Order: sequence, then structure tokens, then C-alpha cells
Amino acid sequence: MQSDLTLSNSAPDEFSPQNPLLSLDTLPLFTAIKAEHIQPAVEHILLANRKLIAALITEPKNLCDPDWDSLMQPLDDAEDRLDKIWSTASHLNGVMNTPEIRAAYDNCQPLITDYHSELGQNQQLYQCVQRLHDRTDELRLDTSQRKIISDVLLEFRLAGVSLDEDKKQLFMGLERRLSKLSNDFGNNVLDATRAWSKNITDEAELSGLPETSKAAAREAAKQKKLDGYLLTLDFPCYFAVMNNADNAVLREEMYRAFGTRASDQDSFAGKWDNKLKIDEILTSRAQLATLLGYDNYAELSVARKMASSATQVSAFLQDLISHSHPAALREYAELEAFAREKYQLSELNAWDVSYYGEKLRKQSFDVSQEELRVYFPVDTVKQGLFEIANRLYGVEIARNSRADVWDELVEFYDISRDGQPVASFYFDLFTREGKRGGAWMASCRNRRQVESTKWQLPVAYLTCNFGPPTGSEPALLTHNEVTTLFHEFGHGLHHMLTSEQYLRSAGINGVAWDAVELPSQLMENWCWQPQALGMISSHYLNKKSLPADLLEKMLAAKNYQAGMKSMRQLEFAFFDFQLHQMATAELPQQQGGEFVSDLLARVRSQTAVYAMPDFLRFQNSFSHIFAGGYAAGYYSYKWAEVLSADVFSRFAGAGVFDAATGAEFLNKILARGGGADALTLFTDFMGREPDVGALLRQDGLR
Ligand code: ZN
Repeated sequence: MQSDLTLSNSAPDEFSPQNPLLSLDTLPLFTAIKAEHIQPAVEHILLANRKLIAALITEPKNLCDPDWDSLMQPLDDAEDRLDKIWSTASHLNGVMNTPEIRAAYDNCQPLITDYHSELGQNQQLYQCVQRLHDRTDELRLDTSQRKIISDVLLEFRLAGVSLDEDKKQLFMGLERRLSKLSNDFGNNVLDATRAWSKNITDEAELSGLPETSKAAAREAAKQKKLDGYLLTLDFPCYFAVMNNADNAVLREEMYRAFGTRASDQDSFAGKWDNKLKIDEILTSRAQLATLLGYDNYAELSVARKMASSATQVSAFLQDLISHSHPAALREYAELEAFAREKYQLSELNAWDVSYYGEKLRKQSFDVSQEELRVYFPVDTVKQGLFEIANRLYGVEIARNSRADVWDELVEFYDISRDGQPVASFYFDLFTREGKRGGAWMASCRNRRQVESTKWQLPVAYLTCNFGPPTGSEPALLTHNEVTTLFHEFGHGLHHMLTSEQYLRSAGINGVAWDAVELPSQLMENWCWQPQALGMISSHYLNKKSLPADLLEKMLAAKNYQAGMKSMRQLEFAFFDFQLHQMATAELPQQQGGEFVSDLLARVRSQTAVYAMPDFLRFQNSFSHIFAGGYAAGYYSYKWAEVLSADVFSRFAGAGVFDAATGAEFLNKILARGGGADALTLFTDFMGREPDVGALLRQDGLR
């Protein structure tokens, strides 16, 4: 290959040497990176990658007998360079969403989409990979290499490589449009969430709210130079009000505001309405599926998954619904009876369900999320989590204060095993203005072999939205939040403890979407083990660990309303899957424009345990499927819960800290990442295919 096309991992000097985003051999230089660096860096890398690919497809070797080093390795290098720039930009867009960064990100998104569509439709490149595929035995390619090649060939087909030229253009147009629609959908939700707030000066109005939540609301008001308290739709605040506020009018107001975000209802009606975007997203996806020869988008989605067919997914969901719905109905009837007898409430409104649910939990188990908070100061939880990871997988985790970070509360850690550095991660745990809600793990760097003796170590972003420390008080987590932290850390371990050497198979790359939640959901189990709870809890004032009686109550309450909780997830999953199975290219005209809400109502007739208010527009903020990657894939959470409950049953049998089981899980699943298909890895660890029984037993539904 021409030497000027063989990019080193750092960018050539003639291009914007002052652009800190192009420092590819270091961790991102967050304090130096500004919004104006994003587009030039993206354009620079895209140009360099295009030149490289043009050279690859005319390289004589790749035209007759390509091998790994002549074709796949340079492609892996190209992808890694782009990933380094784009993951940084995406991360900043998520955690530092200033108007400038958002604009830069929005401007670059079509460039990235075009590049990927173009790459996926590159017929010559496809033929080169096909040639390499034909030589896999001759070249004795290893399992990971074979898996990567077959994944890449599938991606080519799903990118429309075999389409005629006019259909290709149509396909690319749809992809570009979808990428914009999804991005706009997410921005609308973010803007609508941010727009609502309520300033309260009379503390009596907040009766019932825990002290920690009041302190957070006071802090939020102070930041806006307001007196009293500021309530927002950030999840910790919303959740605290819905569960605890005695004031039903306040609960109703927030319930309406939250459930009608980005819609035609309530105070911001029409301002960020996502309805038309939803319709267009669905019709565009249906068109994409048709172009590729699938019956619908759900079929297309399943082509990339561990599930073998859409029929299998539907049957899976129906099966779980049939097990969970009766339990959910019983639980709801119990809640109604409780509210009627104890509070003389003839009927529960939607905004009463969590509130009385919390009261019933308290009466039945004498334990509330809030009173557990004092036992989970964030630093204790982190140290306990690291200790658990150490006992399971033999890793040492140590703070490294040298890394450049984007906010003063962000921390950076190194992971080592047997004294050797393995990976690093950022912890960005607290809510902040301009930070997207929710919790997630994202890749900053992928594990790859860069030279024969040199490795690029994986680095993860672990992001949560817990209430920040206030004044002299540390951040105190609810047990739910502890579980969230463990969940994201499980994703992080999958990304960081990989032993794969190619970007496309390292960590969660190349892992089927419906199997990707296995390591994360597995980690959650340790939040419920008495021995582990001893490690992650300590009263933030008197340092005592969780008292035995409280622990017992907590464990007794574990499956409280498990049926209702399960049905909520199943409703989302079933709605998402049906939506993408049934939507057609002519959706709005054909269905009179009410296709989505009608379908949701039909799904709820099978899944709901109480009637939802008419004003609710839940679908308008369902970012997972309209702005994220979960389209016809929300079932993945339940699917992977089955896998993780099954896997945990082995740990439970051997002892939850059994190092041999930990090592086997590490070697057979975590470390293998996307280097083999998910069912093979699962079967290798369990000695059989997945079984739904472990999950039902775990949730007390069987
Ligand atoms: Zn997850």
C-alpha cells in the first residue's frame, strides 16, 4: 500500500495539528476540545479513510487473493480512527450538551451516516471481503476473524450492497433521513424535559418528600438563583415526587408533564411534538426493510440478533406475558384494596400508583427506598463494587487522577490484573445541566493489537444520573441506583475485560444486541447478596453496615410487585415489536394517522393492569426505540434477563464469589466479546441452551 495512505494512529501533521480531537494516541483531551474542533476532525478522518478504502479496493492482492493483513486489518485501523473521534463527540453531546456542541454534532451526523452507507454499499469492497471469506480455510483464519468476516458480509447485505443503483440512492436517502429523525426525536425529548420546572417556596407543599430530595431541589433552585425549591423532570426528582409526595395535585401535575413530553398535550403542547417524527420513522424503517427483501422491520432487526426469528421473539414475549400478567393483576388488586381500606380511596389514579405502592411496601416490609439511602454513600458503593469485581475476576481497580476530565466530579480509574494494566474507565455519576438523562456505558477506546507487541487498551465511559453530593453531605444512593451502577459496570467489564484483538470483536462490539445485556444484568444480582451488601453498604454517619433486620426486610421486599414490574417491561417490548412488525410504508394514510396510539391501546389491553389516562403520550418520549438502537429490539432486555438469570443460577449453585465460576464466565463469555456468536458462547458456559425457568423463579413468578 502507498505509504501516504498508511495512516499512523496519530493524524498527519499537515492537517490541523492544533486540533486536539485529532490526538489519537492519547486519551481525549477534554479540557482542550471545543465544539469547533468536532467537524474539522470528523471531515479529516473521513477523507483519510475514504482514500484508504479507495486504495484497498484497487490493491492487486485484494483483487485476487486478499488476506487478513491486506484487507481487514487496514479496515479495522480505519474504523478505530473514526471511532476515536466520533465516540468523543458523541460523548460530549451526551454529557455536555451545549448549543455549540449539539450544533457541531448535528452537523456531523449526516457526514457519518453517509460514510457508513457508502462503505456498506461499496460493491468492490464487498467483493474483496467475499474473496477473503472464500479463503478462510486456506488461510486458517481464527474463530474471531471468521466471525468478523461473516458479520461484515451481513452488514454489507443489510446496507443494500446488492441493490440496483436507483434503489441504492433511495436506501441511502432513507438512512440519512432516519438518522436525522432519530436525532431530532432525542433532542425534542431533551428540550421538553428541560423546559419544565416548578419553583416551590412553601416547604409544606413538599410534604412526604425525603430530605435528600428536598436538599437536591433546594440546590437546583440555588443554581438558578431562585428561592425555595426547584422541581424538574430529571429522573431522580420525578421519581422522588411520584413515590413520596403527599400532595396529589403536585403528583398529578408532574405525572402529566412527564408523560406528555414532546407531544400535543399539556403546557408545551405542540412545541416539540414527536408524533409526525414517529410516523415517519416507522414508515421509513418499513421501506428500508422492504428494499432489503424483509417482510417488515422486525424481521430485519432480528437478522442481527441472537433470537432466530421474529416468530420466536413474539412467542417468547407472549410466554412471559402469560406468566407475569396474572401476578401483576393480583398485585394491583392488592394495592387497590390497601388504598381503599387504609386511605378510603375508591379509585387509584395513575399518579397514585407509585405513591401508594411505596406505602404498601412500607407497611408490608417496613422498608423504603429512602431509608436505605443512608447506607449507600456513593464512595462505599464504589469500593464494594471494585472488591466484588476483584473477587470474581481477579482485577485491581485504582483511581488515576492524571486523566483529563470534562467536569470536576468525573473520576478516572485504571484496571489491572496480575500487576498488568488491562483497561481504564471514566465515572460520570451525577446529574448536571446539559447532561442527557439515564445511565449508559459507552466505549472511549477499544482493545486492539496495534503492533506485534503493542496493545491499545480498552477505555469505557460509565455514565449515571444520581443526585449529586449537596453541601457537606455525600451523594447517597437508593438501592435502585446501586443496581443501576452495577448494571452499567457489568457492561463496562464486558467492554474492558475482553481478550479480543480486533475492534470489531472486542468487548461489546459484534455481540448480538439481545445478548449484550447479559453481563450487565448479571452484575445486578450481587446487589442482592447479603455478603456483597456487607461490602457496598455503610451508614454515611455512623459507618455501620446495613443492619441484619433491614437487610432481611430488603430481601423480603425484593420481589415486591415483580409481576407489575415485569409487565411494564413486557408492555414496552411487545409494543415496540408489534409496532415494527405491523408498520408499513403507507402507515399514516392507510391507518388514518392513529396507527401508533391504536396499537398501543391494543397492546395495553393485553398487558396493562389499570387504565392509562387518555392524555398520556408515552410513545413520544420512547427514545430507546425512536432515538436509540432498540427498534424492534426492546425485547432484548427480557431476553438477556433470561440469559443472566440462567447464568447466575450457576454462581448461586457454586457460591456467589466462587472464583472458578467467575474465571469460567470471564474466559468463556466476557473475554470472548463478539468473537463468536452469542448462543455458542452461552452454550459453552452453561452446557445447554437458555431456559426461561431461572428468571421466573428469580422473580418469584413460578
Ligand atoms: Zn444495559
